[in-house]
Amino acid sequence: MHKDREIAIIAIAITIPLISIGIWTSDQRDAVADLEEKEKILVAASFYPLYEFTKEIGKERVEVISLVPFGIESHDWEPSVRSLQKMQQVDLIVINGVGFETWLNDLISSSSNVTIIDTSENILKTYFLEGDDSGRYTKYKDPHMWLNPVFAKIQVQTIASALIEIDPQNMEYYKKNANAYTDKLSELDTKIREEISVCDRKDFLAYHNSFSYFADEYGLIQHSIISGNDPHEEATPKTIEKIIQHSKSLGIDIIFSEEAIDSRLSEVIATEIGANVLVLDPIEIGGENTSYFEKMEKNLANLKEALCS
Ligand SMILES: [Zn+2]
Repeated sequence: MHKDREIAIIAIAITIPLISIGIWTSDQRDAVADLEEKEKILVAASFYPLYEFTKEIGKERVEVISLVPFGIESHDWEPSVRSLQKMQQVDLIVINGVGFETWLNDLISSSSNVTIIDTSENILKTYFLEGDDSGRYTKYKDPHMWLNPVFAKIQVQTIASALIEIDPQNMEYYKKNANAYTDKLSELDTKIREEISVCDRKDFLAYHNSFSYFADEYGLIQHSIISGNDPHEEATPKTIEKIIQHSKSLGIDIIFSEEAIDSRLSEVIATEIGANVLVLDPIEIGGENTSYFEKMEKNLANLKEALCS
């Protein structure tokens, strides 16, 4: 972990020549569409939430791609040689950090002149390193920061700062967009706090161990079927039996599954204890017709079902 962070910090320190951003009228824009594409800041975001955050901050001044293609689970993705080459052509790579991008070392060894911004840096500084007796310090290796809107706000501001560094002329533009997006995250945070705090139950059974920052933030207790960070890890029959007994003793009557995984394991446990299966989405898979907020609202509704009813 420490080594990963060190590498990321070194990478951040390596800068690339700044691109110039032209200011175009709409007529000019039509006439020189191709050229204009080249004038945009090219950003590769490692996976969906960071893709959306970057797009919402950069809007038309930024061309963003998601390195993990939509529909693919982010934990398992490994870049091809072609993707690694593609990454060297962008102006900025936005990563989650905390070991989520297992391919980071490959990228760094194959490229020496790309700027990488690690969106976990300020979260680690704010919530972990300065207060290591908080108990959260032990969760240092959990990468699922985007699922806590309070942490997502820090990730958004970190991305905004990186764009401003590349294109300082448009600082106000990026700041305005980032603030509008973090206002929406604040509203979501307030809504979760208000709606979850009235629930009698605090324990919920997530599919994989992805909602611990969320649970910490809102005073909940996460249990998980798959205890690791990756939803594709296996659960042994002994573990499943233990989860069944534990869920029974906690009175859990909603078992969570995820969109991208086979829901049979959740269904088996649910059948054993007479529970229902709902989705709790760790937002590790992207799509065109969705948004972070839409997915989080759905998560909130399903969590309320588990905790309040
Ligand atoms: Zn995960």
